[in-house]
Amino acid sequence: MTVPNLGTGERNESSTPPPNFISTIIDEDLQSGKHKTVITRFPPEPNGYLHIGHAKSICINFGLASAYNGRCHLRFDDTNPTKEETEYVETIKESVRWLGFDWGEHLYYASDYFEQLYHWAEELIQKGKAYVDDLTADQIREYRGTLTEPGKESPYRQRSTEENLDLFRRMRAGEFPDGSRVLRAKIDMASPNMNLRDPVMYRILHATHPHTGDDWNIYPMYDYAHGQSDSIEGITHSICTLEFEDHRPLYEWFIEQLGIYRPQQIEFARLNLTYSVMSKRKLLELVKEGNVSGWDDPRMPTLVGMRRRGYTPESIRNFCERIGVGRNDSWIDMSILEESVREDLNERAPRVMGVLRPLRLVIDNYPEQMTEEFDAANHPNKPEMGSRKVPFSRVVYIEKDDFMEEPAKGYFRLAPGREVRLRYAYIVQCVGVVKDENTGEVVEVHCTYDPETRGGSTPDGRKIKGTIHWVSARHSIQAEVRLYDRLFTVPNPGGDRNGPDWKSCLNPASIERIGSCRMEPCLASAEPESRYQFERQGYFYVDPSDSSPGAPVFNRTVTLRDSWAKSGG
Ligand code: ATP
Ligand code: MG
Repeated sequence: MTVPNLGTGERNESSTPPPNFISTIIDEDLQSGKHKTVITRFPPEPNGYLHIGHAKSICINFGLASAYNGRCHLRFDDTNPTKEETEYVETIKESVRWLGFDWGEHLYYASDYFEQLYHWAEELIQKGKAYVDDLTADQIREYRGTLTEPGKESPYRQRSTEENLDLFRRMRAGEFPDGSRVLRAKIDMASPNMNLRDPVMYRILHATHPHTGDDWNIYPMYDYAHGQSDSIEGITHSICTLEFEDHRPLYEWFIEQLGIYRPQQIEFARLNLTYSVMSKRKLLELVKEGNVSGWDDPRMPTLVGMRRRGYTPESIRNFCERIGVGRNDSWIDMSILEESVREDLNERAPRVMGVLRPLRLVIDNYPEQMTEEFDAANHPNKPEMGSRKVPFSRVVYIEKDDFMEEPAKGYFRLAPGREVRLRYAYIVQCVGVVKDENTGEVVEVHCTYDPETRGGSTPDGRKIKGTIHWVSARHSIQAEVRLYDRLFTVPNPGGDRNGPDWKSCLNPASIERIGSCRMEPCLASAEPESRYQFERQGYFYVDPSDSSPGAPVFNRTVTLRDSWAKSGG
């Protein structure tokens, strides 16, 4: 089989990610003339939503293709009809597009190759390289041996080619019940590589497939389908995670027996992210058991979840670039991901004021009916982002924790007798408080303002240490805010990857809803999916599902600073 030659094989400097060990291999292959172009693929199994680990793979595969003016296929590895759903196919496509990648016309399904794969299976039977086995699944496991002991050959291993062919055709025709027989590759039951101990190629499964319907009563195993799918598509560099390294000899065995084009498999270390889990099985469990509100819960490490949290595609791509591509399994700290989005939003998010936990502040010497408007820059370093008018009046809301009746050492915000700057407005001094009769809690702060300090300056040069945000009570809108924290309380949930206890360290405080926040009036018209920095509070995203016109709901994407670094988690 020839490899289609569509690209120029030259590195495209404008979209070149930093070199890594894979691009070094590709450079050598192009130089030696082994390949003229680069064809990669991203091969998700449509059995769940994509997560940030997949983003790493997507960025590597699509990134390399684009860097070399090659192409990257999107191929659904849909060999398992019992776990796959069309819903997943659509969301996977949308997530890849959202991340900023395009497969053009190269959308494929492993199921497109079922007929060819079947044909090759018959060929292997004819070559004496595959046989139908009647052992039960348990027996097959038992006969397989262990890492230290060789396996045992199945009594059915010596079946004649004719009998194998006949049985395999009847398997296809649906004559036998599920699980009664399998087709196995005849390799070596004593191989030190367990993958080569006569792996199963086909199983009987009377299941309806989302693509092929009821055409098939047998389905190829992933390990039989994957390498040949790469071969059929002329993939030059088949990039996958390290756990497939031990499968490579098997893929190559099939390719060699069939005498077809051999793609080169290159393994890299998968992404492990602290404070989260990265397996679709576990993510599905969180969804099914209601630990989260769905696949797109903003606490989920899924791309739809991160999107709803307010992550930008750029920030995720930058993150993937930053963590690099290597061959050593390691854990990437969640703070690196958070820093990526913080950096991106710092550039692009307009600043506004929003008070999350409002405390009334009354300015006793400010005329009751008066309103002033202050000019507030939308971005401190980007005049091109313009400014807006912020209304000011006698009663404003400030943040509860910007007032302390008995200020702690080093507290520079408002306290009895003290002065503080209301951002963009005036300097006010606290002259009294009103307390709740029953609880003793301060429910209102009284201040006087200094008319000489309009805009926050002090003509007499006195130093004001604290500046706080505020909104005018009369003009502000009420809005709901959701503050998110990490989904797990420990860096490596459950310790060992598949331990049963991984859910015991779910963070009970991973979401806090505050319904009574007060915002600048301009936010009444905040568009769904827009992003803001609430000064001093973090970056927020207008939730597209729960907001309604005039009543935005804000998801906090990330705080302004890494609050975990200080507390140590
Ligand atoms: P999971 O274990 O989360 O279910 P998977 O590997 O079964 O993931 P696939 O749909 O088979 O999911 O993955 C598609 C591609 O994404 C594969 O090439 C796989 O190697 C890659 N991938 C999956 N998880 C990660 C990860 N954590 N880091 C990097 N690449 C990953
Ligand atoms: Mg998989």
